[in-house]
Amino acid sequence: MRNVVLAVHGGAGSLPRGSISAEQERAYRDGLTRALRTGYALINEGRPSLDAVEAAVRVLEDDPNFNAGKGAVFNTDGEQELDASIMNGRDLRSGAVAGVHNTKNPISLARMVMERSRHVLMAGRGADIFALQNGVPYTTQDYFFTQRRWDALIAAKNPPAGGAEQTTGETVGAVAVDRNRDIAAATSTGGLTNKLVGRVGDSPIIGAGTYADNRTVAISCTGTGEVFIRGVAAHDISALMDYTGASVTRAAARVITEKIPALGATGGAIALDPRGVLATPHSTAGLINAYILRDGTVVTRIFDDETPAR
Ligand code: ASP
Repeated sequence: MRNVVLAVHGGAGSLPRGSISAEQERAYRDGLTRALRTGYALINEGRPSLDAVEAAVRVLEDDPNFNAGKGAVFNTDGEQELDASIMNGRDLRSGAVAGVHNTKNPISLARMVMERSRHVLMAGRGADIFALQNGVPYTTQDYFFTQRRWDALIAAKNPPAGGAEQTTGETVGAVAVDRNRDIAAATSTGGLTNKLVGRVGDSPIIGAGTYADNRTVAISCTGTGEVFIRGVAAHDISALMDYTGASVTRAAARVITEKIPALGATGGAIALDPRGVLATPHSTAGLINAYILRDGTVVTRIFDDETPAR
């Protein structure tokens, strides 16, 4: 895709056509569209791509259909522990939070860590306290509850013979390019259903789940976080482009559809270069994603047959 200003994803997984109701389909497409329009409006006002990716991810965090913020999955103890990160391609500044319990919008806290602390990554209680100190809305855990995620936790604790059925992960992310051709990336997630307390995935790890460098690409990944960390997936895509001159399409496909599967996991990514070329490779059957073009055209792709794998 060319002339893309902003793209979002709603997680790698599998969503065959016909597997959800028309109502659910509409809810996904509406959520993705709302996220895109919110970020796009900012870019049209001349605001930086960093603002656009934060705003788009906030919309998806507030949407109970996605696994981030409200609607995040439960860990083994029936709690939500939230991970998020954000990165600015112009100066490689970045911020991230892991294992947050009481922050309504972890992506905004990640940005606060970037802008108001001298750190890049804050975790757990300290991150929630930092949120309070900086006026990021605090919330109790019950805010994040959804029946669907609770049912998924119970199902994960009682797997049927033959293994659990594969579903989408519904982690969210955004990549954007602004009028100055500055790019940015953001990712937010509740992680994996029934994860151990304290488990941290790739989403808050700069270079694994998120990366942005104006010289190459802005990336947000989704998939089995452990392997994305080991494969340093997001930075690897950027490094391939940097060191070999590969296009975003080639570099992202190589890492996501060859390297990461060879390490034993599946997933996907959205990758946007400063010229507005978007790649959405995935090794899962599908990748929920959507993008908006310079002229305002919105395309949403939620079913497995809507997104080419490379
Ligand atoms: N990458 C996320 C994690 O491992 C999960 C996902 O993208 O579905 O926490």
